Amino acid sequence: MADITRRQFLTVTGASLGGSSLALMGFSPSRALAEVREFKLARATEIRNTCPYCAVACGIVMYGLGDGSKNAKASIIHIEGDPDHPVNRGTLCPKGAGLLDFVHSPSRLTQPQYRAADSDHWQPIAWDDALDRVAKLLKQDRDANFIAKNADGLTVNRWLTTGMLAASASSNEVGYLTHKVIRSLGILSFDNQARV
Ligand code: SF4
Repeated sequence: MADITRRQFLTVTGASLGGSSLALMGFSPSRALAEVREFKLARATEIRNTCPYCAVACGIVMYGLGDGSKNAKASIIHIEGDPDHPVNRGTLCPKGAGLLDFVHSPSRLTQPQYRAADSDHWQPIAWDDALDRVAKLLKQDRDANFIAKNADGLTVNRWLTTGMLAASASSNEVGYLTHKVIRSLGILSFDNQARV
């Protein structure tokens, strides 16, 4: 290493400090000082949702590409706990923290599946067709099995041959409406994933 005098040392360090200070004030002429890394979520779209895995129903924020740019392919790129959600206050357990893999899993079902009688495989069908089929089968079963009066002649209005399992990732309002619809049909077997 070359010998330097005290004067040379002070000159060099003084110049370095001066350069750093100017750069901090915004006068840096070069890109040598690291640029501020672009925040990867800066242009993402935020959507609030609920973790679908368990009865805790933690709130999540999903960040998607899809800010309107023509060349941006819509995709969820990040999921984290919702800090404003009263249940989890931004936290997620390991299952919830892995939701991004669930969203992009190639085996994830994204539309209803139908298996015809005597068939050995499932086939995708449209949502409208699936809902029509569910409604039709429910009516058939209710018409055939509805019990208006019990053996003593008392009005009971029961429908015991169909049950309902509701998801826990619903708001109180949706849960209330679901309960009303199911009970008004006469269904007694009604449970919720929140008990799982
Ligand atoms: S993040 Fe974990 S605790 Fe919260 S709802 Fe999802 S699975 Fe349940």
